[in-house]
Amino acid sequence: MNITKHNHFVYKSTSHPRPTLVTWQSLRHHSSLVSRHPDASSEHHQKQQQSHLHRISTVNLLRNIFLGKVFTSPFLFKYGVACLSKIANSRSAILDPDKNALLRALIKPMVYDHFCAGTNKLEIKKTLDYLKIMGFKGVILIYSREIPAMPVEALNELEPLTQDEDIDIWRDGNVKTLDMVEPGDYVGIKFTGAGPRVAQALAQDRDPPQQLLDAMSAICERAAAQGSRVWIDAEQQVFQPTIDRWTVDMMRRFNTNGQALVSLTLQAYLKSARSTVKNLLQQAHAENWTLGIKLVRGAYIGSENRTLIHDTKIQTDGCYDGIAADLLTKSFPGFGKQNFPNVELFLAGHNSESIRKAYTLYKGLLQKGETPSPIKFGQLLGMADDISCELLAMGEKAGQQVEKDASAPMVYKCMNWGSVRECMHYLVRRATENQSAASRMESTVGVMQKELRRRMGF
Ligand SMILES: Cc1cc2nc3c(=O)[nH]c(=O)nc-3n(C[C@H](O)[C@H](O)[C@H](O)COP(=O)(O)OP(=O)(O)OC[C@H]3O[C@@H](n4cnc5c(N)ncnc54)[C@H](O)[C@@H]3O)c2cc1C
Repeated sequence: MNITKHNHFVYKSTSHPRPTLVTWQSLRHHSSLVSRHPDASSEHHQKQQQSHLHRISTVNLLRNIFLGKVFTSPFLFKYGVACLSKIANSRSAILDPDKNALLRALIKPMVYDHFCAGTNKLEIKKTLDYLKIMGFKGVILIYSREIPAMPVEALNELEPLTQDEDIDIWRDGNVKTLDMVEPGDYVGIKFTGAGPRVAQALAQDRDPPQQLLDAMSAICERAAAQGSRVWIDAEQQVFQPTIDRWTVDMMRRFNTNGQALVSLTLQAYLKSARSTVKNLLQQAHAENWTLGIKLVRGAYIGSENRTLIHDTKIQTDGCYDGIAADLLTKSFPGFGKQNFPNVELFLAGHNSESIRKAYTLYKGLLQKGETPSPIKFGQLLGMADDISCELLAMGEKAGQQVEKDASAPMVYKCMNWGSVRECMHYLVRRATENQSAASRMESTVGVMQKELRRRMGF
């Protein structure tokens, strides 16, 4: 495994000799309500889709159309991504968008602004305000600094440090992130972003270094004081059991007032996912704290030991939907309403069927007068806007004002921030990921063009 950045690892295991750039943000699978809706081709559904897009600003609409055209053209995509990759990997000042004004003038408005929150407090505030005006309940903001790549074997050889500068930089970045979010928003944290020595402790299943513990305490206390929340990303299996252990320690400490200040990420593609949930429920019940779960399918299928992952996509889908349903209905095998701990569920993903199933179940339970576990939904900025807008429309339908109706879905957007240079690798991954959803994008671009024509009065 190579450590590449605050948020990203290049994983290079002995069983998978080909190094693969994998992060949860780099996954190529991406679906939408357009592509998966049973009558996606129908004019009626297209019209519905289009009407949901009224929330998107004209600038964003134009950028969606432009990028959609690039991603769906094999020629433009090939050269566009080659240029972005060259810039991301170059050390030359001429190819540094933070130093070269011309380059920056091209990349920033066309690509960076589509996928990233901003480079400074003012820009980020503008993005967050825009999303909140659109109707999003909140955001998940992630600091995008990268750390240099290094091979997995080298991790074991690292000497301990009394004061680890990587942890300091990581802590400062996360504290700055907290400065920019509001009550109800999340700060997204990746433990491996704290540097190679933290990655080494994770891989060797050690306790966190005291410096990291102090940093996490400061972050959590600050988040609690300002009413924000913290979610901890899930990573590769070489780290994940220890990430879970460290996160449970934090939930035990900070999730004691009936709310999940800290959430753990559960990867449903793992065969062990259900038994992990069972252990978590047992611990949360026995120790009386709130279990915060961000449910994802999992992003590391390309580099992970494949035997740990469900054999088929259908099994992963079943596991994801089953866990969501059991947590919502408080009916996990071995648990009943009497011994079910407080659970807060965050469904992170772009799979419209899963979103629809979970939301329909949640609404049905409320209608029956039951009290399901609270649920939130999240998609990445610049991606799956059609799904996000459809969820927002459901919210409006449920009661115009999100706060006024418990059945209105709480929808969040998740995004990175940092200088254009710091976010370049993230942008390359976004581009690659979107291209793989090219067929879906074609139909989305069509709907967006219609919306544009409507605005122009044609
Ligand atoms: C807001 C947000 C936060 C996220 N945070 C994390 C995180 O912390 N950690 C993390 O790992 N991921 C994270 N992800 C990524 C997530 O795990 C998925 O990779 C991504 O969302 C695509 O899956 P999907 O649920 O959107 O749906 P789909 O596109 O329907 O599902 C694709 C997923 O299905 C699974 N899959 C595909 N093929 C197979 C197969 N043959 N056999 C078994 N399973 C298969 C894989 O997990 C693949 O990613 C996050 C995603 C979002 C939107």
